Amino acid sequence: MKFNAPRGTNDILPPDTLKWRYIEKKTHEIFSNYNYQEIRTPIFEYTELFQRGIGEVTDIVEKEMYTFEDKGGRSITLRPEGTASVIRSFLENKIYGQAQPTKYYYIGPMFRYERPQSGRFRQFHQLGVEAIASNDPALDAEIISLGMRLLQDFGLNDLELHLNSVGCGECRPTYVDKLKKYLNENKEQLCDNCKSRIDRNPLRVLDCKNDSCQSVIKDAPKITDNLCESCADHFNDVQEYLDILNLDYIINPLLVRGLDYYTNTAFEIKDNALGAQDTVFGGGRYNGLAEEIGSRDLPGIGFALGIERLLLSLEAKDIELPVESGVDLYITVIGEQAKKESFKLLDQLRNKGFRTEIDYLGRSVGSQMKSADRMNAEYTIIIGENELNNNSATIRNMKSGDEKEIQLSNLLEEMKQLVDKEDI
Ligand code: ATP
Ligand code: MG
Repeated sequence: MKFNAPRGTNDILPPDTLKWRYIEKKTHEIFSNYNYQEIRTPIFEYTELFQRGIGEVTDIVEKEMYTFEDKGGRSITLRPEGTASVIRSFLENKIYGQAQPTKYYYIGPMFRYERPQSGRFRQFHQLGVEAIASNDPALDAEIISLGMRLLQDFGLNDLELHLNSVGCGECRPTYVDKLKKYLNENKEQLCDNCKSRIDRNPLRVLDCKNDSCQSVIKDAPKITDNLCESCADHFNDVQEYLDILNLDYIINPLLVRGLDYYTNTAFEIKDNALGAQDTVFGGGRYNGLAEEIGSRDLPGIGFALGIERLLLSLEAKDIELPVESGVDLYITVIGEQAKKESFKLLDQLRNKGFRTEIDYLGRSVGSQMKSADRMNAEYTIIIGENELNNNSATIRNMKSGDEKEIQLSNLLEEMKQLVDKEDI
């Protein structure tokens, strides 16, 4: 019998796991500098949460959810994103009773039934943040700059920040009416998909890639020309705060999110080197979401970043993350007595925090040395009967080839000095 991993999923193997850990470690560090705290919600939720929290008329809910009935007959869905769960948890645990705003972040797998291709998988991973219970435009700028800072720390400096405002419950309906009217006037030029979107979700027409639709879209009324005073002020303030941080952005009135509870700021960070799936992270304000899933009027804003896309972006630019693999010391043994003594040394070294390895395949000295080389050992030492009898052995720096004679009983001390200072 032969098994494959399910379509659209990936095994993350060493040494790649080191990159993932590096990204996670940096995320914890940087998010903590911005005073965001980690939240861990379940991998699955009741389906209705996502239907309401993401919206029925979205690709995710219409086509992409992993939904099944559990043995108790409840409809369960593997989480396709993090925001709905975070807001559900915030409401359920009455976090609104505590000091506000609440600033959370998460890292973990998400599941969407999509056609697998470069940068698009069925199990993928996001890291994201949500800041709840403040409508301060400075927080919008903080969230955006936090994402940019993270990318910068990985060496990604040349990504494009697209920015827009999608208005609010007051100004957007008027805009949507205008847009509908315009789209209906130009209906013949739209693709079939967009024709059907005019009534269901006209804002989605704005990000159709079809050439003929594009020619209609370019002259369509712009949401940024139709914002109410308070939304226009908010949008200006966000830009001012981004300017203070020296962050460049491109105002993109076609960047929209189709749902009522998305309000004001919308943004996407794009990497042109990525091809069709070029968005590394995206997010925005969702001041109507808590009302939608919990009848509480609480503003919020967040973003989600695809870790696989981040890795692709690094790859496209030949950026190597500074990850360390390998061992500090490989002990090459000759003979059974030496193996036993070395096994004790190995244990002591590991106990003191040195990454140490030994042969488990009864190999010759030559193949043990090859093995040490393959696992990137920084130092090797050969221990045989002679070395035991004389309490002396040669420790070798594998990179420089330098060798040093040491007392075996002093190996721990020697290692402490060697691994701290690079050369012998
Ligand atoms: P796209 O337009 O690429 O489908 P989206 O609007 O569905 O993206 P969001 O729901 O905003 O994406 O998710 C945030 C980020 O998560 C994306 O910018 C992307 O980096 C990543 N992402 C989304 N779907 C996938 C997927 N199927 N595989 C890998 N990464 C994904
Ligand atoms: Mg998608």
